[in-house]
Amino acid sequence: MSRTTRPVGIYIHIPFCRRRCNYCDFLSTGEATGVPNEYVDALLSEWGLWAETLRRQDLGVRSIYVGGGTPSLLEPLQLRRLIEGVRSAVPAMPDCEITMESNPDSLDAARIRAYAGAGINRLSVGVQSFNDCALERLGRLHDSAGADRALQQAREAGIHNLSLDLMYGLPGSLPGEEVASLRHAIELSPEHISWYNLTLAAGTPLAMSVAEGREVMPDDDTVLGTMREGWSLLAESGFEHYEISNFARPGFVSQHNLGYWLFTDYVGLGLGASGFVSGKRWTNVSNMAVYLAAVLGGRFPVESEERLEGRFREGEYAMLRMRLPGAGLDFATFSELFRDDAQVVFREAFARLMGDGLISVLEDRAVCTQKGLELNNLVAGALI
Ligand code: SF4
Repeated sequence: MSRTTRPVGIYIHIPFCRRRCNYCDFLSTGEATGVPNEYVDALLSEWGLWAETLRRQDLGVRSIYVGGGTPSLLEPLQLRRLIEGVRSAVPAMPDCEITMESNPDSLDAARIRAYAGAGINRLSVGVQSFNDCALERLGRLHDSAGADRALQQAREAGIHNLSLDLMYGLPGSLPGEEVASLRHAIELSPEHISWYNLTLAAGTPLAMSVAEGREVMPDDDTVLGTMREGWSLLAESGFEHYEISNFARPGFVSQHNLGYWLFTDYVGLGLGASGFVSGKRWTNVSNMAVYLAAVLGGRFPVESEERLEGRFREGEYAMLRMRLPGAGLDFATFSELFRDDAQVVFREAFARLMGDGLISVLEDRAVCTQKGLELNNLVAGALI
């Protein structure tokens, strides 16, 4: 590793779940009891295809993120093979962050200890809510007591960097219920909380229930009120609001996720995974048989790719940066990356967004106002 080594994040997709949740449109199969070894072999083969390219480009692994699906269906030995496989082929940076997503129903004390022994140093737990009625409506397999237990076991297993996923804007929720759930999460003292608004995905059982009137989604004003209350509570509790839906205690910003918003390179491995290296973005095939045949046959399993160039690339970059409340879009970094002046490129968009009270343009950067964070899709739309 040299002083010019650039960081790269590695995302590994585990598309297996025990049961499909009612709201989920992620690429994952239900009814799984584990992860087939053949799939783990395929992930390592795919990594083998990438490793030489990354070494040639002097990239060092800054983070590994095992996401899903339900990665906690992996046997600890399978996880160890994956982590060691990644680290042995491309040099890892000394403070490499290694995260695994998990669900409370597939965790226990021994398993978490074994995952830590396999190399993870950050555990993200998909709690979603501490309200049992909400969990049932969402079709989750755990209840709030199960989530409490899993989090306590994670601490006992020596996990020092713990993140919780929680949602608001849930169907049928009563006023105050979601903020109460967030308060409960904060009392458990995690280092990181992702608190995000449930989006109703077309074609899911939940979307059908809503269409048929069996479930009712909260109206926009209610969702906005909950979001504001939650943001205040997180700030009062010492969490830094570093991305629209992400909050961290000092020193615990997710390096992997931050990499996406800072536009750094990442390689996605696995079924349907996406990647972005040196301006090229791609997505893998989403059919398992096609994926396995390609990778085990020594071919990249890419379904589509595009090169981000010119004004489009600048717009994507600006849009992602404007999701970061503190950092925003800083002009010096933009100019270094694109040899262009952000204040010239986005002159009209900035004027419009300032007029609408969505952004502030400071001497060295543009940042979203509170209104711009709340209505970030309008900011993104103007910049792209
Ligand atoms: S556990 Fe996650 S990926 Fe699996 S079905 Fe539920 S929401 Fe989807």
